Amino acid sequence: MTGADWADAVAAVSGLPASAPVLLACHVNPDGDALGSMLAFGLGLRRLGYRAVQASFPEPFEVTEPFLGLPGLDLLVPPAEAVAEPALFVCFDASSADRLGALAGRLAAPSVVVDHHASNTRFGKINLVDPAAAATTVLVAGLLDRLGVPLDRAIAECLYVGLVTDTGSFRYEATTPAVHELAARLVATGIDVGTLSRRLFDTRPYAAVRLLAEAVGRTVLEPSAARGLGLAWTYATVDDLARYGQRPYALEPLVDSVRAVAEADVAAVFKQVGPDGWAVSLRSRGGTDVSRVAVALGGGGHRLAAGFTGYGSLDRVLDALRTVLDG
Ligand code: AMP
Ligand code: MN
Ligand code: MN
Repeated sequence: MTGADWADAVAAVSGLPASAPVLLACHVNPDGDALGSMLAFGLGLRRLGYRAVQASFPEPFEVTEPFLGLPGLDLLVPPAEAVAEPALFVCFDASSADRLGALAGRLAAPSVVVDHHASNTRFGKINLVDPAAAATTVLVAGLLDRLGVPLDRAIAECLYVGLVTDTGSFRYEATTPAVHELAARLVATGIDVGTLSRRLFDTRPYAAVRLLAEAVGRTVLEPSAARGLGLAWTYATVDDLARYGQRPYALEPLVDSVRAVAEADVAAVFKQVGPDGWAVSLRSRGGTDVSRVAVALGGGGHRLAAGFTGYGSLDRVLDALRTVLDG
């Protein structure tokens, strides 16, 4: 990413009249980084005086529990109500166009892709893509700075949510001095870090705790998988969710327990998403490029955290994964 890319992105925004329809989008099943970066940018555009800003993401159009208090949620519209021909389309934290579902059609408009996935396919007219960035919110902070938007508390809260989720609370490798410097700026606006962290990471219904325990309890260790580096995996079915009365996002923390297995470099969690579909989360402790693995299986991600959707029985999807891990 060059200075020219930044300049192009700034020009794409600042060339717009205040009444121009601007559509923001982020990836399907948005996490803290997707939602946080999109809403922070939307609030920033408002601060600049843009009056027709919408934000959306693909179906299922549902903001999950931990994000319900985020500033800027009033920018959201269901994808079916998103403006058909925006003057500018900006998308966040999406590694490829298919992650935008039906909203990918808006790529016919002038577009800016803001993302940090190693597997990003650079599908925008302008691409602010930096795989070294710890989170998409880092890039959004850079863009807001260049547009002259002051960091207020609401924008900071959205940016912080993306930063803290994608860095695993400042634990992962991409947590550079610049990440902490940005965090310091955000916290200095007065955001309530303790309350935010508790809501994001440490609050779940009793039934979800029991569901997670059951799924963690059936973790399988395959020491010889992944070229002998080891694979630990578990799964959760649609029926598991139903028995505990939980929504799919209740399974988000599962992979963090499985990736703690010291004897396995790779962790995989298979989350059933229909009769024949499995959303697979992959993590590596360092010895495996799981982004490469996920791309080979139709997904994407980062070197140490990636995912894909597999089709067929659990055994079949597992076998496909084992084969690529050994390849
Ligand atoms: P998750 O396991 O859902 O937390 O995702 C880990 C990383 O992999 C994130 O950066 C996701 O954006 C990416 N990822 C997960 N699933 C997919 C998919 N089906 N296609 C592309 N990227 C994915
Ligand atoms: Mn994401
Ligand atoms: Mn991200």
